[in-house]
Amino acid sequence: MKSFKTACPLDCFDQCAFVVGVDGGKVVSIEADAGQPVTGRFICAKGRKHLERINHPRRLLYPQLKVGGSYKRISWGQAAELVAENVAAAVEEGGPLALLHFYDGGYGGLLKNIEGRFFSALGGCTLHRGSLCWGAGIAAQCYDFGAVMSHSHEDLVNAKLIIIWGRNPANTQLHLLPYLKAAREVGADSGGARVIVIDPLQTATARLAELYIRVKPASDGALALGMAKLIIERGLYNRDSVERRSSGFDQYRELCAGVDLAEVSRVTGLSITEIEALAVTYAEAKPAAILIGIGLQRHSNGGNTVRAIDALAALTGNIGVPGGGASYANFRVTRHIDHHYLSGLNLKPLRRYYPKPQLAEALVNLKEPPVKFIYFSRANSLTQVGDSNRLRQALRQVPFIVTAEHFLTDTAAVSDLVLPATNFLEAEDLYFNSMSHQYLVYGEKVAEAPGECRPEYDFWAEVAGRLGLAGFPTGIKPDELLKRAIRPLTEAHGITLEQIKEEGPLLLPGGEDIPWSDGVFETADGRYNFYSERAEEEGAGGLPVYREPLELGDRALQESGYRYWFVTPHMRESIHSTHLLLPRVVVSPDSGVRPDAVPLVRPGVRTETGATVRSEMEPVPKAYVNPQLAAQENLAEGEVVAVSSKRGRIELRLAISDSIPPGTVLVYQGWWEESGAAVNKLTPDGLTDFGNQAAYYDCLCRVEKL
Ligand code: SF4
Repeated sequence: MKSFKTACPLDCFDQCAFVVGVDGGKVVSIEADAGQPVTGRFICAKGRKHLERINHPRRLLYPQLKVGGSYKRISWGQAAELVAENVAAAVEEGGPLALLHFYDGGYGGLLKNIEGRFFSALGGCTLHRGSLCWGAGIAAQCYDFGAVMSHSHEDLVNAKLIIIWGRNPANTQLHLLPYLKAAREVGADSGGARVIVIDPLQTATARLAELYIRVKPASDGALALGMAKLIIERGLYNRDSVERRSSGFDQYRELCAGVDLAEVSRVTGLSITEIEALAVTYAEAKPAAILIGIGLQRHSNGGNTVRAIDALAALTGNIGVPGGGASYANFRVTRHIDHHYLSGLNLKPLRRYYPKPQLAEALVNLKEPPVKFIYFSRANSLTQVGDSNRLRQALRQVPFIVTAEHFLTDTAAVSDLVLPATNFLEAEDLYFNSMSHQYLVYGEKVAEAPGECRPEYDFWAEVAGRLGLAGFPTGIKPDELLKRAIRPLTEAHGITLEQIKEEGPLLLPGGEDIPWSDGVFETADGRYNFYSERAEEEGAGGLPVYREPLELGDRALQESGYRYWFVTPHMRESIHSTHLLLPRVVVSPDSGVRPDAVPLVRPGVRTETGATVRSEMEPVPKAYVNPQLAAQENLAEGEVVAVSSKRGRIELRLAISDSIPPGTVLVYQGWWEESGAAVNKLTPDGLTDFGNQAAYYDCLCRVEKL
């Protein structure tokens, strides 16, 4: 058996380094690479499922064109010709802005980003701004610090207190857990760190904490401002740090002075005594780390929420010190990548931008020119974008849609042309986009692609050749492209691709440094900005404020029966929709039906064969509510219910759990259309306060017996 090194490409905080075993040309094992200390002890179930996905019977193997409602196999040459013709026709009719490229974080390697350069070489395209996941928090930290950087996991042992605020690493960041354990047991000079979890949901992480504080949904910003008020009024803030390292404190202090603690108590559901205790505990624990989650910024006050939490850390002198920080994400590696080259920005393309969560709105309202051609890559937008019924409708008006995929996802299934893409094990690449650590991993080509699967950049090079585009690199080997893409890293640190290949996983120089330890921030004035001129100029408001989220606060909607908070977090077993394809339904051995031939079943629906079914994960999607809500709606465990918002409806089984807060319906996100529980039929396509982030959690629903 031969071993190869690569990394997990999934849209996950951890980006594990892998050692992959290949026997007789077949991938037979995927293990953690012990050479990467953060992820080297184990990989998760999602990582192990790459083994199933690579040779999965439902994998797309050939280019397929939709003809008369069903797909027929065509050659790559025909596919390239069709794309070239449709691109040329769209450009002739409306110019390059009639082309739209939608991509997302479904793959963490560098090379698939080069396809963006195709559109720039052609003259430009319509593109998104912002994010479905975390854009409000990123914009918030850019306003406050000037850039987004986190403390390393190793640094947690220096903390006396760790507040995990709206993050659930037990589901979404498993490799953080051993560091939390170490911080509790041996951290902070052997005294051990206290761990507090603040979250409306009593998550698996909350059950590991010493103290769990349940706040009402979307009230975290109010809590942070209330804590700040108390910390300032009691003189518990770090005057020296505030004076030397920040600007805008006077405006912030004035804002906090006006905060009404009784109102904070009402909004958060915590007593004033609880808020005081939390404020004092945080201010007195020196140092204290805050780990900010992405769920708490998915509503119309989300960016301000992250700014309010950042300000607590700056107020108490917890920025730039070991064991401190307001860690949200980490953009240290990505700044060493030449994204302008990959996306072709240096070709000065025409660009028309729309907010990423509002693709449907863009398709309906962009008229000059209307969108005539869409290319979807690294994304299953139809499952993942809010108000997906509206998106499905809007996509019908687009003359030609192309999707590069591994499987016939919901998005691929509404496309005219589906291109079978290579898996991360079937092409070399560089993995650079961990959201937490600072390791770079070169991924070897491990196996031959099945069928006619082909790397996207190879296909776009062929189309570029047919169209005679000079600006797109054709005939260049992948590793030459990689060298070009990491030129900033090579120029700044002398790190070459060869070095990453030989030494990888490679820790970026300074990758574990404490962010902002030199007291110099990347804001315009070089200080931490309690008040941000930039935010003010951009219409986001200079100070962090609390405003009741729009839909959650819609009394008329509540009175019309939509009374419950609809929340759709990530499940432990799947990254978005990626792993929900796998055959969860297993037929009885005597049924004579191949497992892969059995469709996902909607609740209450028998398979055609009537076979007995069971599940690897959940047999069917579930709507989780607490006992109080179940009693109020006269609902029983296991029965089929309809959950609806003013935008759409799904049907699924009810599960009753004490860990769900009152007035809440939780359904894990990622379920495909065929499951009957595609959650984004219900969620809005509205935006957060800034950062062009999807306000998924600003959603009211009702639940009823079917
Ligand atoms: S999904 Fe995340 S934790 Fe799991 S193997 Fe991939 S990178 Fe590691």
